[in-house]
Amino acid sequence: VVNLIWFRRDLRLEDQAALYHALKAEHPVVPVFVLDKAILDDLADNTDKRVAFIYGALEVMQQQLLQLGSSLDVFYGTPAAAFAHWTAKYQVAKVFTNHDYEPYARQRDAAIAQQLREQGISFHMGKDQVILEKNEVLKDNGEPYTVFTPYHKKWQQVLQPAHLQSYACSQYFSKFYQQAPVKIPTPEEIGFKVIPLPFPDREMNIQVIRHYDETRDYPALEGTSRLGVHLRFGTVSIREVMQTALQLNATFAKELVWREFYQMILWHFPAVATHSFRPAYDRIQWRNNETEFERWCQGMTGYPIVDAGMRELNATGYMHNRVRMITASFLTKHLLVDWRWGEAYFAEKLLDYDLAANNGGWQWAAGTGCDAAPYFRVFNPALQTQKFDKQLDYIRKWVPELDGFDYVQPIVSHEAARKRALEVYGRALKEK
Ligand code: FAD
Repeated sequence: VVNLIWFRRDLRLEDQAALYHALKAEHPVVPVFVLDKAILDDLADNTDKRVAFIYGALEVMQQQLLQLGSSLDVFYGTPAAAFAHWTAKYQVAKVFTNHDYEPYARQRDAAIAQQLREQGISFHMGKDQVILEKNEVLKDNGEPYTVFTPYHKKWQQVLQPAHLQSYACSQYFSKFYQQAPVKIPTPEEIGFKVIPLPFPDREMNIQVIRHYDETRDYPALEGTSRLGVHLRFGTVSIREVMQTALQLNATFAKELVWREFYQMILWHFPAVATHSFRPAYDRIQWRNNETEFERWCQGMTGYPIVDAGMRELNATGYMHNRVRMITASFLTKHLLVDWRWGEAYFAEKLLDYDLAANNGGWQWAAGTGCDAAPYFRVFNPALQTQKFDKQLDYIRKWVPELDGFDYVQPIVSHEAARKRALEVYGRALKEK
């Protein structure tokens, strides 16, 4: 008899909640992972960097497990087929995993829990991805917060040292089920090509975090942690990162709480995945001009800071936060393209793509979100450049033709676009 630990966005063997509970329970533990066909089939590009990242993370875990005489058991297919396979292969008593707050994941987990229940197998979930989840931070009247500042305040009040304590898994590593290596399907076997790439370091850069509040807004600097992809796939522990943040830099800690805020919003208001948080904003008459959208995607709008951001995204799978705000504001306000188009483009390209944070960021920039920038605030790309890339170092890196004759003319004039945005938004909000 064995128990399974099902890895998803928690790809590490240290300080991992569900793994800890599994190892402490009564049977040997088989570590399993699903290469989920439903998700993989949706990816536009068969060289998607995130698949390479996941393979890298699985490989690290597999090496550790082989040394312990155990092995990951990786299945390519649907989660339902995976569990049918594992429950036939092993005599399973319990399955352990961690909460995932996305609508697709919640449906998947409910279905798997049901499938297992029918076989007499119990399903146990832990909290691993955030410090405080779901209903742990509520208003005094029991409702979820929809505004960040009071949420943040309450979050700090609710926080206890125990929330930050790490799960010491390694003391129980002898509990891993002993078996010969199980072959992991290769990327080629599942229709992908892995191009070896450098990924951001999983170690925290202490100097960067220490000065985060001074440097984080300047895209030309290495002024942010670059931990996004590691937090997304759980190759670092949020408890470890938050501990460091709380010790070294309050602004950095606050950004990590934004991450929890958006996870909490997605949990309580799953409709935000497809609709504006504020329904009136679904009445906006988007122009949705496809040629203009394409120029935005390619970084050819003639607005240097916007183009630099989009080119950075296309080339690297990363874009600096300040520039994410500027490009998102530009698409939704200057070009009046539906925020969902931009959200989908970022989802395709960002290595650190996370539904909750991406949706939150887009709805914030479009002014449609819970705690959003007011709709009449239209970022001025020239002023943003003045403030945050005054020497044009970031822009010149990505738009080298800036000073030549071949740089494209601006796609719209800022003033005309601003007026148009105010009219269109204003009209939508006035209608009944
Ligand atoms: P740091 O500045 O070092 O921050 C540390 C970590 O805190 C980040 O890795 C991230 O996990 C979290 N974080 C920081 N800011 C935010 C925020 N505003 N909202 C939620 N979490 C935050 N972040 C994502 O993780 N995935 C996304 O898909 C994503 N899409 C975005 C789309 C738009 C339009 C905007 C405006 C922001 C988006 N963000 C997203 C938030 C933010 O831009 C990135 O988290 C950050 O740029 C990642 O770089 P970093 O790891 O160096 O972050």
